[in-house]
Amino acid sequence: MNRIEHIDTYYTSLASMQKKFDKFARKNGFVANSVKEFEAWKENTRKILYDLFGMDKFEPCALHAERKDVCMMEDGIRRESYLLEVEEDVFMPFYILFPEEGKQRYHKDGDTVKPACALALHGHSGGGKESVAGRREILAIADAIDKFQYDYGLKLAKSGYITICPDARGYGSRREAALQKDEESAYLNGACFQLSHMAEPLGMTVMGMLTYDLMRLVDYIEKRGEFDMTKLLCVGFSGGGMQTLMLAAMDDRIKECVISGYMYGYKDSLLTLNGNCSCNYVPHLWEHVDMGDIGALIAPRKAVVQSCKADHLNGPRGLVNALEQVAIMKKAYALFNKEECLIHDIREGGHCFHPEVLDILIG
Ligand SMILES: [Zn+2]
Repeated sequence: MNRIEHIDTYYTSLASMQKKFDKFARKNGFVANSVKEFEAWKENTRKILYDLFGMDKFEPCALHAERKDVCMMEDGIRRESYLLEVEEDVFMPFYILFPEEGKQRYHKDGDTVKPACALALHGHSGGGKESVAGRREILAIADAIDKFQYDYGLKLAKSGYITICPDARGYGSRREAALQKDEESAYLNGACFQLSHMAEPLGMTVMGMLTYDLMRLVDYIEKRGEFDMTKLLCVGFSGGGMQTLMLAAMDDRIKECVISGYMYGYKDSLLTLNGNCSCNYVPHLWEHVDMGDIGALIAPRKAVVQSCKADHLNGPRGLVNALEQVAIMKKAYALFNKEECLIHDIREGGHCFHPEVLDILIG
């Protein structure tokens, strides 16, 4: 027996909100006609993002990471597990994958030669760093790797990079109470929803948490002093693309990046498609910038944006929604005459990482 009444006509808010987007969005979008104007816009836009992300609320503590464990993986790769205190009582676990001796890639900086280093950042639905680090011995992780080609951290290590794979807040052993279950969906996913409820009424955001933690991780990499910082690479797919975009936009120490599956206009991809994870939704963000504006902050550093033609997250207009945002980025690179440093790598198929992009970047 039917316990509800069928509704024929719905009176929704979407069309009104789309109009409001057109009216109110992007008041600090990228506009610059010279490098000097770009630098002024960049400084102002970074300050806006810093405020919107709630970055002033984070309280750095002494930088210390404890090594917890060491094990050997395939191809002679050594995986070290660490725990970094990013602020008081907040801990970030991460792996460092060391390529086999003799297979490491080195960069020359003046008279010094140091091993190449990369950050490999995870997105959703892959159990945090485990999929990126290629832990196929965990069967749910093996499926996630097959689905999204998620093991780019391990691939980077195989290419000779010392590769750092952190857990974002809310993932793996950083899951909040609601997701601390030995069930596959809880294990693979993250607590962005719970974190955003804790953070936003305090003027903080999940985006801020992710970006702040990564900046502390870069502080740690820098402090170790043994890795090359002149070409520090950051790679991420989907939510990892989001983390890569935000970190590179906010922190000039990221010198090269691959943003895969995360470059599209907010109106189509996060307003019209309004069911994405809470971590994407930063209060007041759209009033100020679109995603391509945030990407423009990376200019003129080397960046590859990877888009898949049938990625449902591109929204109803498909790839054009990605092309429009990359076009904003291109204008910023053109100011520096560095158009060649921004590559838009377009692939067939749906939402998935394509590891061939690493060959484009690394050569
Ligand atoms: Zn999320």
